[in-house]
Amino acid sequence: MKRICLALALFSVLAGGARGQCMVGAAKREITPEVMEGRAVYLAGFGQNRTATGVHDPIWSRAFALSDGKRTVAIVVADLIGLFYEPDVLAIRAIVARELPDVHVIVASTHNHNGPDTMGLWGPVPLITGINPQYQDWMRKQTAKAVVEAVRSLRPAKIRVGSIVNQHLADLQGDGRIPIVKDPQLFVLQATDTESGKTIATFVQWSSHPETLGGSNRLLTADYCGVLCADLERRYGGVAVYANGAIGGLLGPLDIRIPVPNPRTGKQTPRRSFERVEALGLWLSKYATEALERGEPVTGNPRLELRVRQVYVPLQNERFRVLAAASIIDRPLYTDGRIDRRTQRRKLPFLGGVELPIARGRDLRTELNVLRFGPVEIVTVPGELYPELANGGYVRYPGADYPDAPFEPVIREHMTGKYKVLIGLGNDELGYIIPRCEWDNSPPWLNNQDHETYGEVNSCGVEVARIVTGTLRELLRSER
Ligand SMILES: [Zn+2]
Repeated sequence: MKRICLALALFSVLAGGARGQCMVGAAKREITPEVMEGRAVYLAGFGQNRTATGVHDPIWSRAFALSDGKRTVAIVVADLIGLFYEPDVLAIRAIVARELPDVHVIVASTHNHNGPDTMGLWGPVPLITGINPQYQDWMRKQTAKAVVEAVRSLRPAKIRVGSIVNQHLADLQGDGRIPIVKDPQLFVLQATDTESGKTIATFVQWSSHPETLGGSNRLLTADYCGVLCADLERRYGGVAVYANGAIGGLLGPLDIRIPVPNPRTGKQTPRRSFERVEALGLWLSKYATEALERGEPVTGNPRLELRVRQVYVPLQNERFRVLAAASIIDRPLYTDGRIDRRTQRRKLPFLGGVELPIARGRDLRTELNVLRFGPVEIVTVPGELYPELANGGYVRYPGADYPDAPFEPVIREHMTGKYKVLIGLGNDELGYIIPRCEWDNSPPWLNNQDHETYGEVNSCGVEVARIVTGTLRELLRSER
């Protein structure tokens, strides 16, 4: 009888584990490049040839893994300008898959403008890459290790979630382009060990460019994201992970119009300073804590639902196409879904006859994910989404290139979770994702302004928004 009871108990433990015990693990790995004489580290963002002179604070790949006992998904966020789906995201997944073939990995970047160039665009001159291949390789391995460690440390967990929206969070998002549409929601998820009560992971998502110091900074730093994560780790323990959201259109600290005092000391902070970086991180930490306190537990061991779809987008941006032809943007170009570097090219009259691939509509392969866990619904967006595409608020301007274009689906209108979370630069960085009706590549400029509209120069093209929002709408529908 005793033996049968033991067998039954063992069976129920195993079955319980497989049936629906929520488990969470977390880990982080440093990805700070070495700064040494004779080997430049090109900082990403702003202009060409901005080399690092030192390290202010380390940069990280921060990961947490979530499992319902059947399916496991890991989210890893690197303090980098961006990682391409191909080769970087698929390479990181391949390293993870050698040890953990059944784990789905979402790889995102914070869009840090104070980290090394990982996209090739910010080298010494425009046609020389800023990527150091040894660093890229090491960074991928470190990022994969963070994921593997997070999954290996999965343990039964209690989860609490919350969100907060207020005017101050909106004011802390400077907006550099009309219309002034922001995405002030801050979302937080915290997992604690069921047995010990210790914090395993705190995940925060908000939206703003990590470029507080501007283009004259030459020190490596994780910007406000680093301050936020360090403060949450001090307060709660465990690993903190920060993901950016809809940061296009253009949300960032350089356009903040209000004074930003340090919330601890009350001391005002100058623009473009490390004091400002610290103040921003501490404000976000304060709001994350508030959101958690007001939040709610996730109960009933919900199922983890995942939808994954690969799509192709056209690469219409002429500058990017030149850079792709010259392998500065070093990712595969496709023709109707097949890799193609030789055919469908035309000679450019400049640049010594670099061959330019002709856009066929399916040039770059990327991926969209929808993840659902109880009241939490997360979508990944492969670039910098204009917040109108997340929340609505499209405006038709005189001067726009397609003022009468139909509006793309508004992503959050198709999300059904109580917490609607966007992970920007999720699994790819295709640049700005701009509503067609607001696309403005040629004069007259938006609202007949006299200065050129900024954004299109760093977008793959006008079709990306339609493909991303349309695909997400389909994935969100198929989930119900
Ligand atoms: Zn950007």
